[in-house]
Amino acid sequence: MQAVEALESNVRSYSRLFPAIFSAARGSIMFTESGRKVIDFVSGAGALNYGHNNREIKAAIIDYLASDAVVHGLDMATPAKLEFMETFSSVILQERGLRYRFQFTGPTGANAIEAALKLSRKVTGRQNIVSFTNGYHGLSLGAVAASGNRFYRKASGVCLSGATFMPYDGYLGSAVDTASYLRKVLTDGSSGIDCPAAILVETVQGEGGINVAGKEWLRSIQAIAKDVGALFIVDDIQMGCGRTGEFFSFEFADLSPDIVVLSKSLSGYGLPLSMLLIREELDAWRPGEHTGTFRGNNLALVSATAALNVYWRGRTFSRGVHRVGELMRRRLEGIASEHGNSFSVRGRGMALGFDCQVSEIAEATTQRTFKRGLILERCGPFDQVVKFLPALTIDPETLEQGLEIFEESLAEVLKQAWVA
Ligand SMILES: *Cc1c(COP(=O)(O)O)cnc(C)c1O
Repeated sequence: MQAVEALESNVRSYSRLFPAIFSAARGSIMFTESGRKVIDFVSGAGALNYGHNNREIKAAIIDYLASDAVVHGLDMATPAKLEFMETFSSVILQERGLRYRFQFTGPTGANAIEAALKLSRKVTGRQNIVSFTNGYHGLSLGAVAASGNRFYRKASGVCLSGATFMPYDGYLGSAVDTASYLRKVLTDGSSGIDCPAAILVETVQGEGGINVAGKEWLRSIQAIAKDVGALFIVDDIQMGCGRTGEFFSFEFADLSPDIVVLSKSLSGYGLPLSMLLIREELDAWRPGEHTGTFRGNNLALVSATAALNVYWRGRTFSRGVHRVGELMRRRLEGIASEHGNSFSVRGRGMALGFDCQVSEIAEATTQRTFKRGLILERCGPFDQVVKFLPALTIDPETLEQGLEIFEESLAEVLKQAWVA
């Protein structure tokens, strides 16, 4: 680790949280150079929904590489791209009665968010973006302007503009309907809030603390966007691709967003791939108006197609995610209740948060789980929530082992805190 510390910029973060050199990984297990086995409940911040080095997806990648097919071709047409779009259209979109055009953006989530905001502004001729408290959309300037976290906003070094923050579902307690507030300020010409080009929302806030928006609230937000002539954008970068049970995190609320933003687990293999799904009549781009060198990389499209073929034909996989998510939730609620009422559990599907209220407890617990062979990360406004994002493909034994390590680590931390 000393060599890494000497060579890599201070900005590095995960290698601080998990100080080891990771040399191999399979499924939900990572191996350190010294041969230690570590269970992975971080899953690349949601980029590894199908686990590390997924065997079936890897086979498709290896075949593609072995055939000398085009890996990089800017956004030229290739059989790999056509097959991806056709497969996504039939397996995901048609099955759900959705119709979208594909825009492949630069490879990061932030790149895709920038494209979505830019297109919304172009379509509506407006500038303002409504986003929500505790929202996270990436760290490029446009994306961070729509993200709540002060630490990241401050680091941008310039005045961030163009976004208005509104209270997310539950932000003001369960008694306040924040959607009514949003409707009021957007329909009152004297509220001081400029008409938005778009309303940008996550259905579950991943970085923001696994805050879950309700079905009715989300439906209201979509209706408000429509009524005020703004585009309704769902950032499904972290919660999409099956994390909450269905392929899209908004299916449970029966939404049909104007733009859907996908990235993280889209490639199915941890390869960088991002895209927008755009309602056809909103595809107002002029050719080449938004471009980039790495858009729709063919290798990532091949793995993405394989992931759709392996997991998303039929409902079996989705049902499994719901079932395992329910088990996890009950297990975590059990752990929470062992310690009085200072902890709470929230989330949907296999995206769960264990709220410790206190940052130090969450931190000490995740440090301890790492020592015992489990990586977990934290989220929420002051990193007080332990975030559980195991691979959707995790086997029951590994899942239980990980949950046991968490349970024991938390108990140890609380015992120590008591003694001290
Ligand atoms: C991770 C994430 C982003 C940003 O993606 P990057 O690839 O890190 O730029 C945006 N929105 C959400 C909801 C995310 O979880």
